[in-house]
Amino acid sequence: MLGRDHALSGALALTAAAPLLHVTGTRLAAAAVLAAGAGVLPDIDEPGSTIARTFGFLTGAFAWIVHKISGGHRKGTHSLAGVALLSAGAWWAGRRQAGVPVAHGHPALSWHLVPAGLIMALLFSAAFRALRIGGHHGDAAGIALAVVMLWTGWDVTPVTAGKVPVLAACVFLGMLAHLAGDMCTHDGCPLIYPLSRHDFGLLPAPVRITTSKAAEHWVVTPLLVAGLAFLAWRDAGPAAAVHSHLAGR
Ligand SMILES: [Zn+2]
Repeated sequence: MLGRDHALSGALALTAAAPLLHVTGTRLAAAAVLAAGAGVLPDIDEPGSTIARTFGFLTGAFAWIVHKISGGHRKGTHSLAGVALLSAGAWWAGRRQAGVPVAHGHPALSWHLVPAGLIMALLFSAAFRALRIGGHHGDAAGIALAVVMLWTGWDVTPVTAGKVPVLAACVFLGMLAHLAGDMCTHDGCPLIYPLSRHDFGLLPAPVRITTSKAAEHWVVTPLLVAGLAFLAWRDAGPAAAVHSHLAGR
């Protein structure tokens, strides 16, 4: 599946879950972009992938290390254990960030902001690359957005009673959407790697998607865009207005 569709499906998964997470408005829009970046995150196990080339040598070297540790392309990062591990990493980074003292609504400068800042710079920039937004300025915009998120603390908005930061939910849902996407192609995903290398699929063989063929361009992408448009309408458009009007009575 193309990076573009992986990114769209990540945003779709987060937006679909938004009512459960209680994120709305601008925070929801920012979270959807982070989830779009997480939608291409599993391919950080492939040094040639879009996300691996985000920050040139830095992410390239990181991807090479991930490739070695995770057992190769479409192995560890495409398993449930990989999703759990990277989501836990984002959770940890968010908790570090949330622990920094806040004065006048903004955090003090602290090393504890660095892990979450790096994760968000990567996810934002990867999302812009995958969706071809901003060209050469996309990476700079990604870094700037990460700084804004640290400044506002939007990414550590708790989504559950357990104070899970929304950043962790973005990584979790975006990666799951990626796995679901790959499971609709001929490749499948090794969900229970390293216990087994078996590739699980979601669709019967005849209707599986071949990456970058007409079906992906003319069916998958439009469906994802339509789904996102519907959810945006549900969450921000007339439907949401009617809903809050009824709730207000
Ligand atoms: Zn993949």
